[in-house]
Amino acid sequence: MMKRVIWLLSGLNRRMMKLLFALALIAYIACKSIQEHAEMNIEQRIDEMFITKEICLLSPSFSQKYPPVKFLSEKDRKRILITGGAGFVGSHLTDKLMMDGHEVTVVDNFFTGRKRNVEHWIGHENFELINHDVVEPLYIEVDQIYHLASPASPPNYMYNPIKTLKTNTIGTLNMLGLAKRVGARLLLASTSEVYGDPEVHPQNEEYWGHVNPIGPRACYDEGKRVAETMCYAYMKQEGVEVRVARIFNTFGSRMHMNDGRVVSNFILQALQGEPLTVYGTGSQTRAFQYVSDLVNGLVLLMNSNISSPVNLGNPEEHTILEFARLIKSLVVSRSQIQFLPEAQDDPQRRRPDIRKAKMMLGWEPVVPLEEGLNKTIQYFSRELEHQANNQYIPKPKAARMKKGRPRHN
Ligand code: NAD
Ligand code: UDP
Ligand code: UDP
Repeated sequence: MMKRVIWLLSGLNRRMMKLLFALALIAYIACKSIQEHAEMNIEQRIDEMFITKEICLLSPSFSQKYPPVKFLSEKDRKRILITGGAGFVGSHLTDKLMMDGHEVTVVDNFFTGRKRNVEHWIGHENFELINHDVVEPLYIEVDQIYHLASPASPPNYMYNPIKTLKTNTIGTLNMLGLAKRVGARLLLASTSEVYGDPEVHPQNEEYWGHVNPIGPRACYDEGKRVAETMCYAYMKQEGVEVRVARIFNTFGSRMHMNDGRVVSNFILQALQGEPLTVYGTGSQTRAFQYVSDLVNGLVLLMNSNISSPVNLGNPEEHTILEFARLIKSLVVSRSQIQFLPEAQDDPQRRRPDIRKAKMMLGWEPVVPLEEGLNKTIQYFSRELEHQANNQYIPKPKAARMKKGRPRHN
């Protein structure tokens, strides 16, 4: 009898052990997947979300899914306005701040931005999208303003120079007026173009620049210079807290296919087997940073105590011709390289001195150029596939050429 009881108990124990073992295994797998998920970068999570969303569209019974956002207490959660938030940089910044758990309001007039860039947040309780032109006053309540609204690519800002000037001057004045009224901190997305065609190389923040005030780039360059001046006038006179990021050439997914910038032009041309259009001899240089590096820098700067301008860019400098060859080889394209006339007032050498950002923000770019380019090439290939079915694929625009030479816009 005793033996039988012991046998029964050990049988039970064995079953219990198996059950416990199975439970432990399930818990381990679940923990590992949560951990891996948390480690995935923002881009991967958004990509994954798009796939889920496509499934949702096929089967409407699935509920709307958003990328996972952190929970922030009332004290830590900020109300953040991003002007130009539906554009290339603004939409990546929106992703970061949403995922960090903040309340984000995007204001955009959709001149160069697209709803598509932020559509994955529409309906989320922390997100709001307002169709508004910053040239008109705006009355909302916020804690921080990332002021990015402005066309950024040369063909786009030269398309309507007066509007570019109004956006950068009146638009910035309005956002500073708003910051003053509600006591918000404002970060201005300024540009390396404030250095013009620089005589100092690499460009540091002390350099005052070399800008042609009446050339085709002036509406943007001088517009941003006035915007910076306004920031410091509001800081000194009204006590508004300002941050100024001087952004150098940036690339990545969600760049507009038709924006005419060198990265989008060369990738689209290489993917479509068309000649890569190099303006001038291609000996002019640029240094390109991947968008996730820029976004991290913007957030660090906003939350720092540095009110003077800070360069954000990748100091790895290439000639445009080298860059054309690199893109051709990454795409494995048989496209030719075609030399077109040089663009007027095209800065000849550009490379950021980022010692200030390194020292004061602990920031520097971490995404290698080829890795960023491969991601961007994948993005543009997907865009071309999406648009392949009887949709219009815009041809890359050329920049305005020197006087007396052909003009492309
Ligand atoms: P983008 O053109 O993709 O985005 C600009 C956004 O601003 C768009 O969504 C556009 O619709 C919006 N906008 C333009 N005028 C507006 C107005 N009057 N009212 C409201 N919205 C308006 O350009 P981007 O590359 O994302 O640039 C964002 C900011 O960063 C710009 O201020 C640009 O000057 C600055 N910047 C960008 C780079 C770069 O290489 N991407 C370099 C230097 C500076
Ligand atoms: N402004 C705005 N939102 C606000 C407060 C001001 O758009 O919440 C605009 C306002 O219309 C003005 C600009 O910001 O054109 C500058 O405002 P400020 O108060 O500095 O100047 P003022 O109104 O006294 O001229
Ligand atoms: N560029 C080029 N071919 C193109 C587009 C641009 O050679 O199809 C050159 C342009 O003349 C400039 C550089 O690439 O020297 C960067 O141009 P982009 O318009 O991207 O930005 P910028 O730094 O001039 O604002």
